[in-house]
Amino acid sequence: MAEVDLASARIGQMMDEIRAALKSEASMFMESDTSLVSGWSEMNPLVETAFTLRDGRIETSFESVGAKKLRTTFGSFLERGERMPTYDLVTRIYRYEAHDEPEIGKKQKIENETIMSDSDYMEPSPPSVPASGYSVDVTPGKSPGITKQQMQSRMASDPEAREDLFEQASREGFEILKRNVAVQTPIIGSDTESASKALRSSETRSGTVSRRSSFKDLTSVDDDGLLPNLSDDGLQLLFWAKSAPGTFVGCTLRMDIVRDRIAGIMPDILSDVRILTVLDDSGAPLVVPEAFPYSEPDWRLPFAAREISPALPRWEVGAWLINPEMLISRANFARFVVWAEVAVLSLAIVIGSVVILRMMSYEMRVAGQKTTFVANVSHELKTPLTSIRLFAELLLSGRQGNEERRQSYLRTIISETDRLSHLVGNVLTFSRRGRKYHMQELSLTEVTRDTLAQLEPHLSKMGFRVTILEDGPLPVKGNREALRQVIMNILSNAEKYSGDAREISVTCRSNDGMASVTIEDRGIGVDPGLSEKIFQEFYRADDSLSATRSGAGLGLPIARNIARAHGGDVRYSPRPGGGSSFTLTLPA
Ligand code: ADP
Repeated sequence: MAEVDLASARIGQMMDEIRAALKSEASMFMESDTSLVSGWSEMNPLVETAFTLRDGRIETSFESVGAKKLRTTFGSFLERGERMPTYDLVTRIYRYEAHDEPEIGKKQKIENETIMSDSDYMEPSPPSVPASGYSVDVTPGKSPGITKQQMQSRMASDPEAREDLFEQASREGFEILKRNVAVQTPIIGSDTESASKALRSSETRSGTVSRRSSFKDLTSVDDDGLLPNLSDDGLQLLFWAKSAPGTFVGCTLRMDIVRDRIAGIMPDILSDVRILTVLDDSGAPLVVPEAFPYSEPDWRLPFAAREISPALPRWEVGAWLINPEMLISRANFARFVVWAEVAVLSLAIVIGSVVILRMMSYEMRVAGQKTTFVANVSHELKTPLTSIRLFAELLLSGRQGNEERRQSYLRTIISETDRLSHLVGNVLTFSRRGRKYHMQELSLTEVTRDTLAQLEPHLSKMGFRVTILEDGPLPVKGNREALRQVIMNILSNAEKYSGDAREISVTCRSNDGMASVTIEDRGIGVDPGLSEKIFQEFYRADDSLSATRSGAGLGLPIARNIARAHGGDVRYSPRPGGGSSFTLTLPA
């Protein structure tokens, strides 16, 4: 847009300079002799046909084609007082004459001029002075109440006032001109239909309005002027200047040279993204690139455009995108990238939140389990200690005379001590997780039998029937104490989680190079979903303190830990017919 503005301002300024140069040349002839005017075209190549207008008659030095054209185009206007369309900015008409009837040509004569020159013609859309508001008080010698900047900002901010201005102009007999172009703002992601809608809605009224005026109207206000005429032959320009009363000198301009000069001051017409050129009153480009990089643009639909000057009515400087589809597809791609980024970020946030939440809930669960563990361990330690103390006190008091009873008290004390040391052993093993075991050759069957023998008195006292099936010695490499702890943990669970049917069967066998011990009970069994969970540290199917079976959730994880340190494992499977089945396997 800045380029378009600049080019348009430059051309407007050049038109002003042409007029000023012609004026000073004309005054030279007036001072010397108006009959010398015929030599004007030799002096200034822009001049086509020079003439003198004396007592309402055009005088040219010789009858050329140019002279004929001058008479057909401007003859009746200059000689017979006929009216002809004259052009001015709608904003200028209403800016200066506050209370007078606005009329083209009448306003130029304000002494303290802040009037913009033609080159100031910057805003193609009409400035908005509200219908009532055009009565700005402008008296000669006094600065007009409104500046160009104020005017432009008002017109940009108030489309309603702009409408008023056009309405006012057409009411007062001005013809509203149509622009040759409809500035297009590409609608990103648009289809052709909405693009054409955008086209229809854009402003196509020219900021220049026209009204038919007579030569007398013009000369009564101005001493000179550059008068455009739009005909089927294209734009003609006539310069005139007042000489003596009733006498004028003037000339028509060579439009080919005017066009060349305009083309000459244009910046580079072709860049990577746009074509910049001037359209004449017929909407045809003045200069075009040698070749169009993409395809010839639709000249009616520029990306940005600006009218130039009332001296060149309907002429425009415009910029056209070289490849509008590419721009749209680039914009679409950029939009896609932004959306994709947003999507990826949102996904990352969601995944991150889920991970954090899961971690938090895991940590909280572990923390909760540790708390219950401490409570459970304390409870587990206290129970045997209480009974040991109770039976020891009974024996100490000497009140129990029955030898058999005393023996039974002592056995209870011993078994409770075993239970205590079993628990302390588990806690100790747990605290030393990951340590290396001292391994030796041993028979897994023998270790199993030893452990069973140790537990036998207690189990039979509790009413358990234990059967053992063995298949040879099952030699393995392992740590005796550790393996004993594994079997002990599984056996004491079989006892702890038993039901009414108190039977435990132990099977030692070798299979596919593995030695295994399977301990089965007819107890309460494990819920199908928990068969792996029970091997987690501190996990207990029922971990409330009021649970009927006390424990710390360490037995199975320790058993599995030890087995895995030996290259084996401990697994649970439900026992057909009810109860649990735990199998320790070790490489044979
Ligand atoms: P604890 O026995 O101290 O609770 P364990 O790690 O030995 O801890 O056992 C974990 C859980 O596995 C027990 O709380 C229990 O719910 C379940 N469990 C273990 N062995 C058996 C079994 N033989 N029968 C039924 N459930 C068992």
